[in-house]
Amino acid sequence: MIFGIDLGTTNSLIAYLKDGVPTPIPNVFGEFTTPSVVALDENNEILVGRNARERLYTAPRQSVASFKRLMGSTEQIALGKRHFRPEDLSALVLRSLAADAEAHLNERVEEVVISVPAYFNDTQRKATRLAGELAGLSVKRLINEPTAAALFHGIADREDDATFLVFDLGGGTFDVSILERFSGVMEVRATGGDSFLGGDDFTEMMMRLIAEQLALPPKKRTEPKIASALRFAAESAKRALSEDKEAEVQLPAALGGSVFRIAASDYESACSGLLQRLRSPVEQAMRDARLQLAGLAEIVLVGGATRMPMIRRLAAQLFGRLPARYPDPDQTIALGAAVCAGLVGRDAAFEEMVLADVCPHSLGTSVSERDARGTMIGDIFLPIIERNTVVPASRVKTVQTVADFQEKLRIDIYQGESRQCSKNVHLGGMEFTIPLEKAGEVKADIRYTYDVNGILDVDIDIGRAGISKNLLIKKLSGDVSEEEIERRRLELAELKVHPRDQEQNRLLLESGDRLYEHLLGDERQFVGSWLDEFRAVLERQDPREIKAAGDALKDRLAALERGGAW
Ligand code: ADP
Ligand code: MG
Repeated sequence: MIFGIDLGTTNSLIAYLKDGVPTPIPNVFGEFTTPSVVALDENNEILVGRNARERLYTAPRQSVASFKRLMGSTEQIALGKRHFRPEDLSALVLRSLAADAEAHLNERVEEVVISVPAYFNDTQRKATRLAGELAGLSVKRLINEPTAAALFHGIADREDDATFLVFDLGGGTFDVSILERFSGVMEVRATGGDSFLGGDDFTEMMMRLIAEQLALPPKKRTEPKIASALRFAAESAKRALSEDKEAEVQLPAALGGSVFRIAASDYESACSGLLQRLRSPVEQAMRDARLQLAGLAEIVLVGGATRMPMIRRLAAQLFGRLPARYPDPDQTIALGAAVCAGLVGRDAAFEEMVLADVCPHSLGTSVSERDARGTMIGDIFLPIIERNTVVPASRVKTVQTVADFQEKLRIDIYQGESRQCSKNVHLGGMEFTIPLEKAGEVKADIRYTYDVNGILDVDIDIGRAGISKNLLIKKLSGDVSEEEIERRRLELAELKVHPRDQEQNRLLLESGDRLYEHLLGDERQFVGSWLDEFRAVLERQDPREIKAAGDALKDRLAALERGGAW
């Protein structure tokens, strides 16, 4: 079986086709979303998901989040004494999802489809694929997130041609994609958005409101303990307002322990600036796709933050109609990836029909030309596969030497839309030694093949020099070789990961520690002694006793976790 994975900036999810129905798989805590957070515990064991997210609050230096933003870069992320590349951290999240699915279904997870933002470039896609390989998974396909959303809602396989918009508001990013279904081909017509606007900004607005009500001076608000308590309370209040017109949240001790009340209407007016910022990317994408509102057949809301009623209302205003209501907008992409996995696994003909995607950026090479007066100008972009070409695509262009007795021919690969190569993204390149001949005598055929995963392969044929070479951009762009993947995979596999069967107990301790910090007086003393007792039980290693004590502690903590949608 092939599994579908939404590897999100904030949350990740794994899903599969259960008797043909896309179904999310719960993690060890019985939850469908797993926070994309990695942390180290005091024994230097790796924690992934909810426990790691708890540590974002209690041990911020030992935990990292939002590394999807860095995918495709060579940045190193410090975690304890070690450094990780973004794809290493993503691999740890993938492994955790796979382990949850294996435990739930009692079946090995080997093959997966992973979704990526439509605007991800070649390097970011390769990093995602690499993350899969580092996790020991075989990545059968990368699918654009909006395409996955369309697949899940069955928009992809309807008969008529139509255009629709996917409005995805996650934790830290806002993505707008306009897709067109045309003769069974799905095309991403335009993408836009704001990569620094998401649900977290709405949490921050709530933090501000709480801080204002408590009259906290600005300097105080940024103290780590205060800031983390504010964030925690704000997230709870924000989620409560997705359900009710009013929220009531017990504030942590660091904030004085009083109760914070807020009405949805007040919160919404405070957020009006954020709502305003959501408008322009939508309008821009519509302009790019040369679309009028009336031309949109459907609007799909995706992402956890679209659970907020004000976002649904904004969408209704923007599009002049109510968006379809889907109960779990944060599961859409994973469920769509599972549909894609089913298609990839089964019927190739069907797959071609509904899954044809397009390449989001033009791919080409650099050439020199003589202008009208015969002066040589370089750095000119020669597109080989143009933006929005339906993939898989294979195109060839021929270039030739421009100077007499040229010794070398350099072939570079660029991605972008500018006529000046230096303004586009350089993906790789290579220099060839060629026979000394007159200008134009030595010709090179450059073939670009862009596959359904958005990965580029380049074949270069220089007949006169007897050169026929396959350029794997992977290697050329200073990226990783097979041996290196294997080495890094083993390194990751050797990391001590916190045992899955102890995650539940771990969560009790982590959230207990956080509660201890949040509460005051007697309640705090209770929590402290319960945790000590539980630690003593864990030491004795009697599974039955641990289970009973764990269940009891869970109920006790839950009773104190007021307003805690966390
Ligand atoms: P990503 O695509 O970034 O991984 P998600 O689609 O999981 O993110 O969305 C995460 C965001 O959704 C967070 O900002 C979270 O606060 C927000 N969110 C989740 N559930 C709710 C809710 N019930 N009400 C309001 N916001 C929510
Ligand atoms: Mg997402």
